[in-house]
Amino acid sequence: MSSENGHTEKGRCIIVSAPSGAGKTTIVRYLLDQDLGLEFSVSATSRKARLEELNGKDYHFLSVEQFRMKVDSGEFIEWEEVYPEQYYGTLASEIQRIWKEGHHVIFDVDVVGGLNLKRYFGDKALAIFIQPPNIQSLEDRLRARRSESEETMKLRLDKAAQELSRAEEFDVIVVNDDLFKACEEAESIIKDFISR
Ligand code: ADP
Ligand code: 5GP
Repeated sequence: MSSENGHTEKGRCIIVSAPSGAGKTTIVRYLLDQDLGLEFSVSATSRKARLEELNGKDYHFLSVEQFRMKVDSGEFIEWEEVYPEQYYGTLASEIQRIWKEGHHVIFDVDVVGGLNLKRYFGDKALAIFIQPPNIQSLEDRLRARRSESEETMKLRLDKAAQELSRAEEFDVIVVNDDLFKACEEAESIIKDFISR
């Protein structure tokens, strides 16, 4: 199988995108625990680590200067300033490492990043949009996660409205109302894609 970028490896890409608070990290963690041969693409970011997050496992945490140096040396497949002064990006080295190990890559990226990756990987990629039942539940979930200040909460909710309007550009939409059902649905869609 090859894509418009000429990738010839057998590994596939599963892209999971959604507005912040929709539940994509929770669903990606569930998927990684299933026997699907998936491995997480650890992004680089310049935001601060949350209490439970580990450097090298959840993200490669970098300073803004370190991040910009990697941009300049062409180490990213895609990168974005997702929030002011908070950069996030997909490292080309992650994909090579994961495919070499014989695994499929799973990404947790924002909506613009997800659509850029879908374009880059072509038919090797399945792009899944995780949709919250409504915008109020996004706010409730972000508050329950207790990771955001009022200011960053507002930034995330403003961006969410924009992101929700792009759901139709993804290959599939999974509504995350009942978490267990959403996890099972995503798992079954991925199994089907990988076995094709
Ligand atoms: P994202 O990665 O999309 O920002 P998270 O996976 O961190 O979202 O989920 C945000 C919060 O919502 C977390 O505290 C998570 O436990 C919770 N959550 C996820 N899915 C559901 C759901 N279906 N119902 C209620 N809470 C949920
Ligand atoms: P968080 O700060 O909540 O971990 O992530 C904020 C947003 O950045 C989320 O939508 C997350 O999916 C996205 N994100 C994480 N890594 C990347 C990446 O490598 N590229 C892009 N474009 N977005 C990312």
